[in-house]
Amino acid sequence: MRWRDRQGSENVEDRRGRGGGRRGKLPLLGGGGGILMLVVALVAGYYGLDLTPLLTGSGSTVISTDGGGTAYQSSSPQEEEMARFSSVALKTTEEVWTKIFGDMGKSYRPPRLVLYSEVTDTACGYGEAAMGPFYCPGDQTVYLDLSFYRDMKQRLGGGGDFAQGYVLAHEVGHHIQNLMGIDREVSRRRRELSERDANRLSVLVELQADCYAGVWGRAMRDEGILDPGDLEQALKTAEAIGDDRLQRQSSGRVVPDSFTHGTSQQRYYWFKRGFDSGDPNQCNTFAEFREAGGW
Ligand SMILES: [Zn+2]
Repeated sequence: MRWRDRQGSENVEDRRGRGGGRRGKLPLLGGGGGILMLVVALVAGYYGLDLTPLLTGSGSTVISTDGGGTAYQSSSPQEEEMARFSSVALKTTEEVWTKIFGDMGKSYRPPRLVLYSEVTDTACGYGEAAMGPFYCPGDQTVYLDLSFYRDMKQRLGGGGDFAQGYVLAHEVGHHIQNLMGIDREVSRRRRELSERDANRLSVLVELQADCYAGVWGRAMRDEGILDPGDLEQALKTAEAIGDDRLQRQSSGRVVPDSFTHGTSQQRYYWFKRGFDSGDPNQCNTFAEFREAGGW
């Protein structure tokens, strides 16, 4: 993706390097050799856990993350580049959704993007790097620890700037759902459903965000800033972060009822559907569920 000569967004807040203020309250266990063990209690808020390979089950899980322990490590040139990229990518989402909302006679209010390291305070509780990127509807903000991009490349087999843009655009997709009232409607419905159906509904929310990310991707292609191979990389990433793949990697088993983001195939399908159509109206992941009497 050719992004370097483009403007960044004005809606980015950089909190990197000052995440430690309330770290004492976090359930950190000791770290050795640069490995920090975290015990993460999963309070699976509706959006709280997103795109993460680590938190696919339920209950508590023990994970390890490369990290600097207590001291903040000064930012590498690669990370600075990722910060700059995130700002530019956010700006492109602002342009794309401003136009789409404008075509509907509405004005678009963009989300904020907070870059942080390790932990940060949000209206949805603590954000932790281990959670992966997430969107908090309470403060209409996307939270991103840039180490996720590195992990994405190393562990999930997804990488490249367009694939990173897809991740950000997916979170912005949750913001769109918030603006359109979809998340409130879904939260309301969820309370009436069995756990199994509520999980299915969560998957549909995630797949819609993927589809919206695809709509953004299509606009990037139409602007002519994609490089050959960019789409393939993003699709590969969508597959790599499917729940079935992640579950198999972590436990060797696939348990469909506990999926919250969709299978690799579903994520691939919906991102591509958004990309091929460029039309958010094609992103109604709920239609089938509703027709089948899901609610
Ligand atoms: Zn999501």
